[in-house]
Amino acid sequence: SNGYRNSAIRFCDNGSSKKDIAMIKSVPLFIDGEFRQSVTEEWVDVTNPATNDVIAELPCATEPEMVEAITSAANAFQSWKAVAVPDRARLMLRYQHLLKEHHDELATLLSQETGKILADAKGDVWRGIEVVEQAANIASNMMGEMVENVATDIDTYSITQPLGVCCGITPFNFPAMIPLWMFPIAIASGNTFVLKPSEQVPLTSIRLAELFEQAGAPKGVLQIIHGRKQQVDFLLSHPDIRTISFVGSVPVAQYIYQTGTQHFKRVQAFAGAKNHMVVMPDANKAQVISNLVGASVGAAGQRCMAISVAVFIDGAKEWIPDLKNEMEKIQPGCWDDANAGYGPLISAPAKTRVLGLIQEGKDQGAVCELDGSQCTVDGFPNGNWIGPTLFSGVKTNMSIYQQEIFGPVLMCIEVDTLEDAIALVNNNPYGNGTSIFTASGGAARKYQHEIQVGQVGINVPVPVPLPFFSFTGWRGSFYGDLHAYGKQAVRFYTETKTVTARWFDDDIPSGPNFTIHLK
Ligand code: NAD
Repeated sequence: SNGYRNSAIRFCDNGSSKKDIAMIKSVPLFIDGEFRQSVTEEWVDVTNPATNDVIAELPCATEPEMVEAITSAANAFQSWKAVAVPDRARLMLRYQHLLKEHHDELATLLSQETGKILADAKGDVWRGIEVVEQAANIASNMMGEMVENVATDIDTYSITQPLGVCCGITPFNFPAMIPLWMFPIAIASGNTFVLKPSEQVPLTSIRLAELFEQAGAPKGVLQIIHGRKQQVDFLLSHPDIRTISFVGSVPVAQYIYQTGTQHFKRVQAFAGAKNHMVVMPDANKAQVISNLVGASVGAAGQRCMAISVAVFIDGAKEWIPDLKNEMEKIQPGCWDDANAGYGPLISAPAKTRVLGLIQEGKDQGAVCELDGSQCTVDGFPNGNWIGPTLFSGVKTNMSIYQQEIFGPVLMCIEVDTLEDAIALVNNNPYGNGTSIFTASGGAARKYQHEIQVGQVGINVPVPVPLPFFSFTGWRGSFYGDLHAYGKQAVRFYTETKTVTARWFDDDIPSGPNFTIHLK
């Protein structure tokens, strides 16, 4: 409809048995309701991680383009905030319907730019759709409070109002879910939104915007600009932007939080992680092993909630050889290979970094039970492949323990007691997710209560909350106060106004009052 579908992203049969994205000239910006080509001189290659072929060119937006996007969002806010709340919710209902209708198409596109296997890509889209469903319930989450008769004939009530132009800066690893964590809730709350997607995976965001427009989103309510640090810096300091929602790596999250708050913006910055699964010897062994495999190497370990450390208590360490046998069966492959357990790493530099960490693990004395560094995949000699990798005998001073690897690498640490496991996890600077596998209610309850991590699974390996709750990472995994989606996100994207009201029922003036009411 806007010409973009025909000119930019096309699916074609490229002669092989695989359907791949055709060579694309350039990714458009989405400014003031138009998908348009940037006039920039600065372009970045977008690659297919299974082949490292260039599939698109991404423009780094110019300053005038960004000013236009922000100005258009600020103008759109003036009319959008006046739209009735149920009508804003209905936009989300239509959007949810369209996203479901295009679920497979979105997942296919997403698979090709991230390398994720199709089933996993479908989950990425689905988790985003669930947030849109929650955005359709916006009225309930925007409800204020009231106390009648705070003094004789006086009532106090609170109302919730949108802030203005909100901004999102997103990572490569969930190109549908993470943008959808942000703009549907912000927009349903009455704000307008400027999204800066990851420069590594911009195509899914553009398709999300096209469908949003098709659902009836008014012009200017959502804008997309592309780029890297320079563009982010511009957004962080622009006076018309009221909030920054960021998801990405630790150093960038810290930088975004510091710089955004320095410019007096409301900031929520979700950062990296090191997630531990604690395994008690009374746990169900088969469940432990299959859950550990999926949670560690799924999505090539490129999930902020991936399990990267298994903490075996006492006799549970005897299960490591069987864990190795199961991990060995998993092979990476291209997104449409039904036998592949996961896809490639996002980029060649990401692969080089993970290989370097695997080598450091070996050099520092961890036992490499399973080594995926030489992995190859037939037909894809240039892909960023790393096979499942398992270390045992890992110590907390090793770099593989101290750094977020973000690759298909699981490390095992052995401790004697639950108390030791809790101390280990609480000493790690991150606090995104953790889980305990056990048959003991008492142990699970103790773990849930004492652990300093914001999302806890009990016999659930990756405890990502559904969107009626919030995504509540703690400590080094989150900078800010109010988290993503759920009620917390609505509070993040709104301001509370508290009204104290009295209606006179006669004309007799009560005379000036110079004191504070004490009762
Ligand atoms: P990244 O930090 O490299 O990039 C994230 C975003 O920041 C991108 O849009 C990028 O363009 C921008 N950016 C990069 N460098 C910048 C700089 N110097 N200044 C300003 N902006 C900059 O992250 P990534 O590699 O895309 O994503 C992977 C990371 O995201 C992992 O660390 C992962 O744990 C984390 N993550 C966290 C969560 C969570 O909820 N806590 C969820 C998903 C991913």
